[in-house]
Amino acid sequence: MKMWTIEGNEGLAEEIRAAAGRDALGSAYILSGGGSRGEAGRYLAAAMECRGERPPCGVCAACRKVRAGIHPDVVVVEDAEHKNISTEVLRAVRSDAYILPNEGRRKVYLFPDCSRLDAKSQNVLLKVLEEGPAHAAFLFCAQTSAQLLPTIRSRCVTLRLAEGAEEGPAERDRAERLCSLLLGGDTLGLAAFFTAVETGKMKREELQALLTETRDRIVQALAETGPGGRPADSRLSRRQLTGMADVLERQIRQLRFNLGVGHVAGALSVELARCMRE
Ligand SMILES: [Zn+2]
Repeated sequence: MKMWTIEGNEGLAEEIRAAAGRDALGSAYILSGGGSRGEAGRYLAAAMECRGERPPCGVCAACRKVRAGIHPDVVVVEDAEHKNISTEVLRAVRSDAYILPNEGRRKVYLFPDCSRLDAKSQNVLLKVLEEGPAHAAFLFCAQTSAQLLPTIRSRCVTLRLAEGAEEGPAERDRAERLCSLLLGGDTLGLAAFFTAVETGKMKREELQALLTETRDRIVQALAETGPGGRPADSRLSRRQLTGMADVLERQIRQLRFNLGVGHVAGALSVELARCMRE
């Protein structure tokens, strides 16, 4: 029988399954991007509740209840009476999170649309996100993670859903690798990375997607720290990282104007290394 997956995001679904198998799922996630966020949210909630083999198995009682939207410990947080979810509803969520699950392994709160969470209501959730009980989990579905406050984002793992089929796990891996080279100030690694891009016949659209994803991650890392601070996991200063984001932006534009992949990769290698030295 075919394993349950997230349509168009099979790689991500496998990552979640692998983490669930190691019992390594966290307690706060943002599911962002244009893909089927609701479906991904249910999949992740089921991975937390599943009692079968290779969670989420999709067939055990817990999985079936989550899929049908009737699991008593998976709460979809909505507010039919208001445009934005009211702080009363969120305060109720906050106190409920401390109560043990009814029958599930965890209490999961699924926010299907974060455009309905304003800054005030997000602040109600901060503390429970930070120091809530281990059994509570919060899943935020958002078109873009920018809908959430930096203080919330910094407490969550962001899982990006592909718009269609174009952003696969290979692209995500590459962006992650490039980001860690940049944040770590690894000039040698950087040169090797772009040599591989030049010789690996990467397509223009692929490089564009890679650079866009990398720039977004750097901008997010910057947004999560105050003006004086230095982003977590980074050996570089804010000024250096801001310089890198600018370089990436400029080269994304160059690609749009049809400059070749080899040319852009060469320029990136030189200019990003310069940012690291400055
Ligand atoms: Zn299951």
